Amino acid sequence: ERISGSEAVAVIGLGRFGGALATELIASGTEVLGIDIDEDLVQSYDGILTYVVRADSTREEVLRQLSVHEFDRVVVGIGTDLEASILTTSALLKFKTPTVWAKAISGPHGEILEQLGVHHVIRPEYDMGKRVAHLVRGSMLDYVEFEDDFAMVKTHPPEEAQNRPLVATGIRAKHGITVVAVKRKGGIWDYTTPQTVLYSDDEIIVAGPKSKAERFSSLL
Ligand code: ADP
Repeated sequence: ERISGSEAVAVIGLGRFGGALATELIASGTEVLGIDIDEDLVQSYDGILTYVVRADSTREEVLRQLSVHEFDRVVVGIGTDLEASILTTSALLKFKTPTVWAKAISGPHGEILEQLGVHHVIRPEYDMGKRVAHLVRGSMLDYVEFEDDFAMVKTHPPEEAQNRPLVATGIRAKHGITVVAVKRKGGIWDYTTPQTVLYSDDEIIVAGPKSKAERFSSLL
C-alpha cells in the first residue's frame, strides 16, 4: 500500500494526543501514516490508520525510508520524552518539504520547538486550560479563539440585542462585534441578516476581537 505525501498526514507518536489526532483525521477522510516506537500501540492502530509502522523517529534515515520527507504535513505527538521530541523535530525540519506541527508539554519545551523552527507549536493542556476558563466563567456556551486576537463565542443575546431587528440595536457600532448566526429553540443554525430579530432563548454566535466578544457575552 502506498500513500501520497501530498494528501496524507504523517503522525509521529500515537499516544493520547497523536492517537486522537490520527483517528480524527481518518474519520474526516484523510489518509494517515502513523509511527510509534511502541509495538503494542502500533498493533492497536493496525487496520484503523491507513498505514502504521513501528519505528524510532529520532533516526533521520528511518524517516526517509518511510518517505516522511515527502509528506507535506507531519505532526509530532511526542511529549514526555523531550529528547525524542527534539531529535525527531529537528530531523523533520531538515527535510524542508513538510510543514511541521509539534506538541509541547511545557513552556520551555514549546520555546525550544519554536527556536528549532517548528511551524506550529501546539500546547494542548495550556490551550485547553485557557479555553475552558472562558466556559467556566459562565456566560459562554462555547468559545473558539483564532490568531491575531479574533474569537467566536456561542452565547445568548443580552437584553439590548433582543426584540428589534439587529440593524436597529446598534450593537455592532457600540460593542465592536457581529452576530453572525442564530439558532432558535429547537431549530437549526442560520445566518443572521440586518433584519433578524433575536429573542432571549435564542443561541447566537458572536464574532469579533477577543476582549469585545467576551465582554458582549458577559452582558447577560
Ligand atoms: P500523550 O500524552 O499524548 O500520550 P506521550 O508523550 O506520553 O503523549 O506519548 C508519545 C508517544 O510517542 C508514545 O506512544 C511513545 O511511544 C511515542 N514515542 C516516544 N519516543 C518515540 C520515538 N523515538 N519514536 C517513535 N515514537 C516515539
